[in-house]
Amino acid sequence: MLTVVEALDAITSVVAPGPVESVPLAEALGRVLAERVDSDIDSPPFDKSLMDGFAVRATDVATGTARLVVVEEVTAGEVAEKSLETGQAIQIMTGAPIPDGADAVVRIEDTEVEIDQQQTLVRIDTRPVTTGQDMIQQGTSMRRGDTVMPAGRRLRPQELGLLAELGQHTLSVHRQVTVGVLATGDELVAIDRQPQAGQIRNSNESMLAAQVRASGAVARELGIARDNPEDLAAKIREGLDCDILLLSGGVSAGRLDLVPEQLEAAGVTEVFHKVKLKPGKPLWFGTSKDAIVFGLPGNPVSSMVCFELFVRTALRRLAGTDPATPCPTAARLACDFEFRGDRPTYFPGRLENQPDGPRVTPVNWHGSSDLRSTADANSMIHFPAGNQLYQARQWVEVHEWAGRA
Ligand code: AMP
Ligand code: MG
Repeated sequence: MLTVVEALDAITSVVAPGPVESVPLAEALGRVLAERVDSDIDSPPFDKSLMDGFAVRATDVATGTARLVVVEEVTAGEVAEKSLETGQAIQIMTGAPIPDGADAVVRIEDTEVEIDQQQTLVRIDTRPVTTGQDMIQQGTSMRRGDTVMPAGRRLRPQELGLLAELGQHTLSVHRQVTVGVLATGDELVAIDRQPQAGQIRNSNESMLAAQVRASGAVARELGIARDNPEDLAAKIREGLDCDILLLSGGVSAGRLDLVPEQLEAAGVTEVFHKVKLKPGKPLWFGTSKDAIVFGLPGNPVSSMVCFELFVRTALRRLAGTDPATPCPTAARLACDFEFRGDRPTYFPGRLENQPDGPRVTPVNWHGSSDLRSTADANSMIHFPAGNQLYQARQWVEVHEWAGRA
């Protein structure tokens, strides 16, 4: 049986980054950049004022007090016509270019304007003025030729703003992946139906489709396949049109766990079956000519955990994000915790930021079928195999779950 690390390795070696397309910047939120972006501008593009006030020569106001002749006014979007001589000031607005000859700005709050017949004067009374005060130099935040974003970056609002500043109105991104979600089981009924004796609602399909969407991919909900070869074969065929097909249920050792054999019959080759973890041991993974297929265990928390660890890795790999494998964080346990288990376990936990650092509390979890307690959690704590009494404040590895509460 593969370990989690071996299973993740198998996924990243079988799945390659997917095709690329061009999209308008306005539609690129959440997409993954396919090409590195270098700047072809300096930012800011000119020395500019950070304040409304007066552009001056710092040496004229070295003591903090001065009376200067105001020779011009420059607002944002304009360029001063005059070059500043000693003894002069140019009134300036935030965002306007610093005039030639000036090397500092004195904010308007520290000035008083005097107008007589011949000229406008500004009286300055402030702390000693130094070169570069209240202005920002050309190229401080980026220089022409700088690499500002690597390929594989998921685009958030700040990246989109930066790309807009660079004039990149059309972006090269990885094509969005379509993920089919197929539930299997004779016991399942649709979520708007009243279960009869022995039946339950198909909750996995809704949950997995939401996990797909939270990952930035497109979910196609394929409904329920019954535990017979004909129905499974037909719905698997339909699902193989997707880039990734997720099945839930039917991958363990029961008489009606027909998913692996029906996948093989549909031309999907097994890469691995079963991974040493809890919950989620029966996980099945394979590939066909055009699709990647996960047979997720039917128990809801098993499905959810396998999605977070393994399906997400495949999605990140397809999208070209680096690294594709999960990036856990560390947190201190909030309480003593007695762990018993012969497999590495991903245990639902509530991660909080405390003044002395991140802290995680294991929730009252009753195992792989207990989805309810995951609603109290926002992460999973990784406990290695082996019985152990963990102490409060001991550091543990935590995987945050995506999706906002
Ligand atoms: P299986 O992997 O098919 O043996 O299913 C394991 C357990 O998960 C059983 O108790 C199933 O009833 C339950 N289960 C399977 N599929 C779903 C589903 N789509 N929604 C909720 N529970 C499910
Ligand atoms: Mg089943």
